[in-house]
Amino acid sequence: MDDLVALKESYQTELASVQNLSDLQQVRNKYSGKKGILTAQLKSLSSVSTDQRPVFGKKLNEIKEFIESGLDAREMSLKEDEQEKRLLAERLDITLPGRPGLFGRSHPITQILEEIKGIFLSMGFGIEEGPEVELDYYNFEALNIPKDHPARDMQDTFYVSPDVVLRTHTSPVQVRVMEKRRPPLRIIVPGKVYRCDSDVTHTPMFHQVEGLMVDTDVSLSDLKGLLALFIHNLFGKNTPVRFRPSYFPFTEPSAEVDIGCIFCSGKGCRICKTTGWLEILGSGMVNPRVFEMAGYGPDEFSGFAFGMGVERITMLKYGIDDLRLFFENDLRFLRQF
Ligand SMILES: [Zn+2]
Repeated sequence: MDDLVALKESYQTELASVQNLSDLQQVRNKYSGKKGILTAQLKSLSSVSTDQRPVFGKKLNEIKEFIESGLDAREMSLKEDEQEKRLLAERLDITLPGRPGLFGRSHPITQILEEIKGIFLSMGFGIEEGPEVELDYYNFEALNIPKDHPARDMQDTFYVSPDVVLRTHTSPVQVRVMEKRRPPLRIIVPGKVYRCDSDVTHTPMFHQVEGLMVDTDVSLSDLKGLLALFIHNLFGKNTPVRFRPSYFPFTEPSAEVDIGCIFCSGKGCRICKTTGWLEILGSGMVNPRVFEMAGYGPDEFSGFAFGMGVERITMLKYGIDDLRLFFENDLRFLRQF
């Protein structure tokens, strides 16, 4: 009986010093394992005298139950501790602020180009494209630009060979489309054009949008109405518009289109050269010579054409005074749009 009291005490001491599950397993093996002290004690029951055996057996069972329930309880609490430790170690701190992604954006020229396209698409125009390396014929000849026209000067045109140029305007696409299709035509031609020129208002490559409308009875008033509507969409509906007589070889009559200066509201400033007006596009009724060369009967159809520089319109819309900023790719500049 004294042995059993000592056994219980030593078990309690050992259980108290258990730190983890593997310590606990050792204690379990020592006391209640197959080769443990309790098992050995149970086996030794047969050697206890018959009169003492029931008392000793009862006591032994009580201790066995006490030890095993103590081991189980300790195991459960150790498992809970370990799980808590693991969860703490795996915890994510979701309060840390994220790293912001770098978002790209459209170039200001692209933004205005898309805006211009959107306005004409909403008016029923389709989009056409053509080659940037163009035959002299389409770039000049078929647009009624005679051999001695200043536009043919080597100063302005990049020649690839005597008959091939980098297109100096998007107008050659007019001719290419008219050769393939019969009226009614309502197209715009956005694209890159090239000229040997470089200063604050000129770059060797820039963007134009050409427009062409041909049908049986298209008049100058259609041209005026359509371009005024376009300008009011792009610059605001109270923008003054004026048509000023001009000359282009491929239109007759021709007109430059001006808007009231958006910087000084027409009072006159440095940007509008004190005139109160800003020139934004060229236009006119298609020259019958151009129709003839495209294979249309000049008496059969009438139409108008117009063309604008996208860089110039973007500069005016955003108040930018140096064209070269668009092509320097300085993020401090580009991020402002
Ligand atoms: Zn002005």
